[in-house]
Amino acid sequence: MAKEERFVKQITLKSEDFSRWYLEIIRKTEMADYAPIKGIMVIRPYGYTIWENIQRLMDRRIKETGHVNAYFPLFIPESFLKKEMEHLEGFAPEVAWVTQGGQELLEERLAVRPTSEAIIGSMYAKWIQSYRDLPVLINQWANIVRWEKVTRPFLRTTEFLWQEGHTAHETAEEAQAETIKVLHMYKDFAEAELAIPVIEGRKSSRERFAGATETYAIEALMSDGKALQMGTSHNLGQHFSQVFDIRFEDREQKQQFVWQTSWGVSTRLIGALVMTHGDDSGLRIPPQVAPIQVVIVPISLGNWKESVLPVAVAVEEELRGSGLRVRLDAREEFTPGWKFSEWEMRGVPLRVEIGPKDVKENRAVLARRDIPRKDFAGLEGLAQQVKKALQEIQASLYDQALKFQQENTRNISDYQEFKEVIEAKRGFIRSWWCGDGACEDKIKEETMATIRVIPFGQETQEGAGDCVYCRRKGCELAYFARAY
Ligand SMILES: [Zn+2]
Repeated sequence: MAKEERFVKQITLKSEDFSRWYLEIIRKTEMADYAPIKGIMVIRPYGYTIWENIQRLMDRRIKETGHVNAYFPLFIPESFLKKEMEHLEGFAPEVAWVTQGGQELLEERLAVRPTSEAIIGSMYAKWIQSYRDLPVLINQWANIVRWEKVTRPFLRTTEFLWQEGHTAHETAEEAQAETIKVLHMYKDFAEAELAIPVIEGRKSSRERFAGATETYAIEALMSDGKALQMGTSHNLGQHFSQVFDIRFEDREQKQQFVWQTSWGVSTRLIGALVMTHGDDSGLRIPPQVAPIQVVIVPISLGNWKESVLPVAVAVEEELRGSGLRVRLDAREEFTPGWKFSEWEMRGVPLRVEIGPKDVKENRAVLARRDIPRKDFAGLEGLAQQVKKALQEIQASLYDQALKFQQENTRNISDYQEFKEVIEAKRGFIRSWWCGDGACEDKIKEETMATIRVIPFGQETQEGAGDCVYCRRKGCELAYFARAY
């Protein structure tokens, strides 16, 4: 037993070594493991269930906003990628190529999709003829391959899972409205389901998607003070429609190119979840996406198998019956204390403890993962109390993350101070920026901070200051941070 207790306690403290803590947590909670190929991970059931919950909740939003799912090929002919040079050059260093099928060398190399604008564009050219065919609002859930040099589970891996929306519209205004609608959908998803507050806005041209007119993103602050891009929405303009000849006859019977968007979120969201909510004891998973929302631990004292266990089984049935994701941990080889630590490490939001005394009193103990707190709850109507507690936990995790984000967002106008804060405290820095990529490059070179987003509502910001780097006037407010 002593050995097992150490196993749980062996995690590196988050406060001591964040990066090591992150890797250990992911492996010890069995979310993911390294595959025998460098830079590729295996998503284990505990991690994959989180992804399934994310998929289900996101897919519902995608469909509620009028989109439908389809599936496009994994392989993209090289000539398709080459049609759009900026796009190709953006992805070329990361593309994996198939050169042989069976025993035959291929006449044309096939790219393993690094993103699907090219292959989908070629199909839209066939499907769209008239304004009556528009808009096309298609999403696909798929895997993506980008040959990464430096990888980290969930945050950057050579193969990952995502959804990619690809839409085509009659007008530029419609495409822009779609781009922003999806961005708001992502923000709402991150905040309501993952309990992660995000900043939304536009990317600088340096950070723009290869081939896009504008890229928008949601950015979150991880608990080590580094930013993470959690989702992107691109207005592609007519860039790809001109290249792939996606034309339609408009209402005046004239030929026009369609206006397009594309947007995506990936398994990176799981990394965001870990880094936003985790603590020294392990994961803390928001109830909305937790594989196990409630774990029931019977306290093994005296004749517990006769007295306590039947009550625990009845509680499990009641909770499961009311739609909750429940696990009864009746394993005999572990002490309750060991189980507490293990489920805490795995981030289960709520633990129900039932001991001999509780059975006599017709009650259970509810222990929350978001804050160190235990409450008694009567067994009568327990499911309702558990649901209420889970709602509180979901809200409390969001509030804690929001507080952290707010405390670590600073308005800075002096470049010296900018450098010091990025070095010592990190976090988001809100500074005025002249819009010149040269200043952006210098800041990145000297501080490793990049522009994460240029937020909306610039007109409501108080009087513009000078560029934090070059002191020129005519600035926009930007969020800077070191980022994953
Ligand atoms: Zn400047």
